[in-house]
Amino acid sequence: MSAIIIDGESVAGKIRTQLIEEINALKKKGFCPHLKAVQVGENASSRLYVQNQQKQCEAIGIKYTLDELPADTKEAALVEHIKKLNNDTQVTGIILQMPLPEGIDAKRVQTLIAPHKDVEGMNPANMGELVYGNTRLVPCTAMAAVELVKSVGIEIRGKETIIVGRSAIVGKPVSLLMLDLSATPTVCHSGTKDLPAQTRKADILIAAVGKAEMIKGDMIKPGAIVIDVGINRIKELDAQGNPVLNVNGKPKMKTVGDVEFTKAKEVASYITPVPGGVGPVTVVMLLRNTVEALKMSANL
Ligand code: NDP
Repeated sequence: MSAIIIDGESVAGKIRTQLIEEINALKKKGFCPHLKAVQVGENASSRLYVQNQQKQCEAIGIKYTLDELPADTKEAALVEHIKKLNNDTQVTGIILQMPLPEGIDAKRVQTLIAPHKDVEGMNPANMGELVYGNTRLVPCTAMAAVELVKSVGIEIRGKETIIVGRSAIVGKPVSLLMLDLSATPTVCHSGTKDLPAQTRKADILIAAVGKAEMIKGDMIKPGAIVIDVGINRIKELDAQGNPVLNVNGKPKMKTVGDVEFTKAKEVASYITPVPGGVGPVTVVMLLRNTVEALKMSANL
């Protein structure tokens, strides 16, 4: 059996189309979502994220602006800036770009973003809402993983769901979202005694570990739905197991997930690829959260 590959771009595209309709309707009522990004100092990867976010937002009608603060900004000044944005009625969502310079407690500052503007769903108040089944602002990657499960169209109720990884941004919120859908989730982590025994029980397996191809094909139950959240950069090897070199003589790198894709796809019924699975849906969840944040601000 060869699994159906779940196309993240296609799932993201459908959600994007719904969002465009929703944003147009909001604009007709006089509401416009405005996402404010805050970046401290110069960072090449963060700049790339910002450019991509801006493109994604503007393509569907979300206003996107960037506040660039100097690299020597102190935590107190950044906190003041966030508080100012919290009170700015023209700003409906705030995203703090990572990484922040050394000496700034990123987690502390992030939790100071007002809950109704917290498009990354990281504020403890929004995490708490999730426990109560309110899924309006949930961490984007967790929501993306669950959207991909839903896209398969199977009955989720009662499904044995194994989540590998218990981070606050992925594993924990995924477990609560799946519980809310009446699946039976189990969360595994580095202290789990017999991981293969757990994963082999999974009707739905969600891997968020950050270890390249750690979940082997023989750890997957035949017919399982496999959602691979992992993003890992590894050296590309030739048939003899030697690194493939690029034109500069440096090892060629490739991106793989936490699941051994080639073997897993022969066992699973559905599987997400890396790249092209969770990633594109995560981006669109940020857009959806931005629209939700506007609706929360406007009491809609
Ligand atoms: P974290 O490092 O925060 O968490 C990893 C989790 O994996 C931890 O709970 C850890 O357990 C668990 N773990 C580590 N080793 C093992 C093991 N041998 N057996 C069982 N569990 C283990 O990672 P994140 O949740 O932030 O990210 C996970 C992956 O998802 C990464 O590859 C990351 O790049 C990717 N990611 C992808 C996104 C996307 O948009 N597609 C967005 C965000 C992340 P313990 O808690 O005990 O240490």
